[in-house]
Amino acid sequence: MTDSPGIVVTGASGRMGQMLIRTIQDSSKARLVGAVEREGHAWIGQDIGAAMGGPETGVTVTDDPLEAFASAQAVIDFTSPAATVAFAGLAAQARAVHVIGTTGMTDEDLARIHVAARHATIIRAGNMSLGVNLLVQLTKQVAAALDEDYDIEIIEAHHNQKVDAPSGTALMLGEAAADGRGVDLGAVSDRGRDGITGKRERGHIGFTAIRGGDIVGEHDVLFAAAGERITLRHVASDRAVFARGALKAALWGLGRKPGEYDMLDVLGLK
Ligand code: NAP
Repeated sequence: MTDSPGIVVTGASGRMGQMLIRTIQDSSKARLVGAVEREGHAWIGQDIGAAMGGPETGVTVTDDPLEAFASAQAVIDFTSPAATVAFAGLAAQARAVHVIGTTGMTDEDLARIHVAARHATIIRAGNMSLGVNLLVQLTKQVAAALDEDYDIEIIEAHHNQKVDAPSGTALMLGEAAADGRGVDLGAVSDRGRDGITGKRERGHIGFTAIRGGDIVGEHDVLFAAAGERITLRHVASDRAVFARGALKAALWGLGRKPGEYDMLDVLGLK
């Protein structure tokens, strides 16, 4: 067991952070060696298991990411864009695989991740579940098969604490649809319709975000034409699917050469 790869979880007190810690502890293929939170967080200095209200784990929550990363083979990071960009540089320094689940990153953030990937193995996906990654492939195929008589709309729903919209998954699905049609998503994306918007533009891809309660994550890709509609749907009912996918990605990344990868690489769906 002590020979299994050591993993650090950042944002350890977060919704995904806590789920990741449980998933790693339940796994025989990896062991938890670090839990990182931001400076000043109430959990710093406490055992992560005890802070989560369970048994002690022997891992103390730290606000020193570099020290934690140096003792690990991989870092699993579901935090915020600013934190993730900083962690990418530190993970590269520590030669640790960096699995990024954080969403809402700007082009500038992504450019900095790209620079870090010259020296580090980075696996980043707006959604780490097998089902959504299959949905991405299906969306691309269906979009390629149908012409612009079919209006494409992406509808997503998440809990009321989510801070970015559309979701990283909705954007992945939008990219897949645009890719299938051979167009650039940036040129055809309709986001945040409100007021007198005019008629729907042919060939555009629309996004709608619903926020409420404790919805874990739901995504519909709608292809609507005169006389018929096709809906591709994924519903996540348990965050464990993202945590299991992230752990799978971390283990897959060990020993890979530096560069940027995604879940389609991990799942062999490319
Ligand atoms: P959350 O509950 O708010 O957790 C984020 C955690 O990161 C918080 O504990 C936060 O601490 C911590 N954090 C922020 N900045 C930090 C820093 N500089 N150092 C250390 N910790 C820091 O959010 P969540 O629901 O877990 O989601 C986190 C991210 O993952 C979001 O971007 C979400 O969209 C994404 N996500 C991705 C997937 C996927 O499959 N790719 C699935 C689910 C969620 P504070 O509370 O002190 O700010």
